[in-house]
Amino acid sequence: MRIILLGSPGVGKGTIAKLLSRENGCVQISTGDILRTAVKDVTKLGIKAKEYMDNGNLVPDHLIMEIMEERLMQSDCRKGFILDGFPRTIPQAQQLSALLEKMNINLDYVINLEAPMEIILERLTTRRTCCNSSCQEIYNIKNNPPAEGGVCKICGHKVVQRDDETPEAISERIKIYNQKTAPLIGYYAKEGLLRNVESLHASETVSAIKAFNISEV
Ligand code: AMP
Repeated sequence: MRIILLGSPGVGKGTIAKLLSRENGCVQISTGDILRTAVKDVTKLGIKAKEYMDNGNLVPDHLIMEIMEERLMQSDCRKGFILDGFPRTIPQAQQLSALLEKMNINLDYVINLEAPMEIILERLTTRRTCCNSSCQEIYNIKNNPPAEGGVCKICGHKVVQRDDETPEAISERIKIYNQKTAPLIGYYAKEGLLRNVESLHASETVSAIKAFNISEV
């Protein structure tokens, strides 16, 4: 499976990517997870990315492309990949196409996850994330709470609210999504790769994606 998950912040890309990758062994590549780890580890990339992320802005394309060019070359990607949160701009999508062509790789589909805005806002304010960089499991205080004491059910680390989940940063992220990322829907529709999938109940969304004719790499 080689797919891109597209959709607004809070639509469920991370949750669906994790479920699919557990089922079929493809790697989930989340640029957001990679950047959060870099911020936590105070790497050069993390120092550059932090301010953009805290304000709900996008990290510049050249930094994202550096990360992705390196990541997609790693051997675990041969089993297939699920791109979660990348690409997020038209230039990123164009550079990804060029990179995949160079690697002789075709995408199966670009899955555009959809949910009503009130559900997205509710999810963003009630979402919590495991603070362990190699886990980053996603919880929701209303319908999928962490274990007792607010710890991750998988690794036992503390489950926290992300720095970019303040009301101001959330509204900025949605504005930026509409300006810079939503145009990718038309871009991939023109390429014939786009499939729209409702993202209300995770298990149904996963089944709908698996029902497409997807390669078994
Ligand atoms: P996410 O976890 O996908 O919501 O990403 C969190 C934050 O990381 C975003 O609000 C951006 O600041 C940054 N980010 C993640 N992926 C990208 C990307 N492909 N391009 C630019 N910025 C990104």
